[in-house]
Amino acid sequence: MQGCDPLEFTSIYQRNLEDSEDSDGEGGLGNVNRLIMRPPGHSGKAKRGHLCFDASFETGNLGRVDLINEYEYDLFIRPDTCSPRFRFWFNFTVDNVKQDQRVIFNIVNISKYRNVFNENLTPVVKSSTRPKWQRIPKTDVFYQRSLTHHGHYVLSFAFAFDREDEVFQFSIAAPYSYSKLQAYLSCLESKATHLNESFSRELLGNSIQKRRLDVITIGSKGIPSVKNKKRVVVVLARVHPGESPSSFVCQGLLEFLVSSHPLATLLREHVIFKIVPMLNPDGVFLGNYRSTLMGFDLNRSYHIASSWAHPTLRATIDMIIALDKGRDLQLDFVLDIHAHTTLKGCFIYGNTYEDVYRYERHIVFPKLLANTADDYAHSNAMFNSDVNKIGTARRFFCSTLSNKVNCYTFQVSIYGYHAHGSELCIPYNEESYMRCGRNLGKAFLEYYQIIGAIPVSLTSDVGEKKRRPKTHRSKLTARSWHSDRPKTTRSRFMLHFTDVNYDSETSGEELHHSYRYQLSPTRTPHQDRDDHYLKKLGGGGRIKCSRVGSPPPTTYIVMPEPSLSIIDFNLITRNEIDAAAKRKN
Ligand SMILES: [Zn+2]
Repeated sequence: MQGCDPLEFTSIYQRNLEDSEDSDGEGGLGNVNRLIMRPPGHSGKAKRGHLCFDASFETGNLGRVDLINEYEYDLFIRPDTCSPRFRFWFNFTVDNVKQDQRVIFNIVNISKYRNVFNENLTPVVKSSTRPKWQRIPKTDVFYQRSLTHHGHYVLSFAFAFDREDEVFQFSIAAPYSYSKLQAYLSCLESKATHLNESFSRELLGNSIQKRRLDVITIGSKGIPSVKNKKRVVVVLARVHPGESPSSFVCQGLLEFLVSSHPLATLLREHVIFKIVPMLNPDGVFLGNYRSTLMGFDLNRSYHIASSWAHPTLRATIDMIIALDKGRDLQLDFVLDIHAHTTLKGCFIYGNTYEDVYRYERHIVFPKLLANTADDYAHSNAMFNSDVNKIGTARRFFCSTLSNKVNCYTFQVSIYGYHAHGSELCIPYNEESYMRCGRNLGKAFLEYYQIIGAIPVSLTSDVGEKKRRPKTHRSKLTARSWHSDRPKTTRSRFMLHFTDVNYDSETSGEELHHSYRYQLSPTRTPHQDRDDHYLKKLGGGGRIKCSRVGSPPPTTYIVMPEPSLSIIDFNLITRNEIDAAAKRKN
């Protein structure tokens, strides 16, 4: 079961050889299944350029395609299973394209018209030989009311297929599937063998379609902490299937917690992390936006969770309540990770309390996170006691668990962030989402230092030991980079996260794809800095980067950024389409 998702009993996703190439979309709960778009009146074998749409794969979502003309297609998102009002996530492939074929895709039935498409979010694309997701340039994307679509908001984007034999995949964000998680967790298990009893992966329950609900436990149970109670942090992710960034954030946190960095070791010694990385595995598999197979929004169902309708939720709630009641345990946090579709940056939603001291305790962690993360958006953070949100993890656990537990929703934008409040919006990618996860780990560490659960002297020692010797940098860097470096003041509790090693082999992505465009799918801070040097040198080509005093010099091959040729939207106008059609006739 681990590392794959055969699910023989849900054969709707398995295509037989004898299936028609262009069946009418019975591939998976309404997803199109290799649907070939022939022009009206055409019969017989499809020609190259008759686009073939497919979404009958894991996390796929595309319900219907209307051919407007040879250049333009209206695309319909398949609504969530048993919950037709949710239509936002899309993920589909297109093949059988003609060299340099130009098209306009209109996504016509997005249910949530107010979203970050208004703020320049654009879809992502990749192709068979260029597996790194890229955002389509804003110049080729429009999001506006369309009179030809009854005044609905329509997302239109223009695209040129530059290679004939490739399969192109379009999505609202980089997908993170159930199978990817299973593969990643298997990899994590083998990597974490050195942690012995400080790491375990258990089956907390099963979803309705019998997918695994995993819980990862990281942290030593053996060493007593302050007051002889072991501190516990619960982290939940991916309750909403269309919020794939949540899974990347969770992976970043897991990577940090199992790493061999001394600060991670310290955290593991004093705190137990219970991480549920995918609360809604069926919804993720099916390509839903918010719902489970049965159409429930789990983050509105905590107060009514039953073991037959919401089995994964019930199992999670039972685990958290048991942890709260544990005699030798002190449950401190329940953090639920989401991706936000209208706001930018990362931020926390918390609760308000009449007890002013409790509220003051409650806002400590968000403040620490804000200090840690340069993408933290203060203006989007919110603390309330909204009764409408009673079914959310944050509100439900706030009223159910003991007073000492802090319950938060962590939100990260599906689009991008303004670093240090600058005007420029930097789009998130897989790596920067994982950095959010590492920042969460860092903020937890700082919190436990402040409350004295982790002695400060220990982390200070770690900081001293891990500081790099000056001789470690090459002459080249001393000239080109070190001299430009601004003088920084060091805080008392210095955290040396630049030394954290993240082994690329634990990235689930690499298990399936060969990401040769990148130096490594999960990049270390060293690599980022090395890239900085290389950019200063002009980038490109083969560059040898040696370091004084470091073991064997490393040769980096800097590959050019992959680029799909994406056409200027303005070049395709109705007039031009008509003219082209006439020329063709
Ligand atoms: Zn959400």
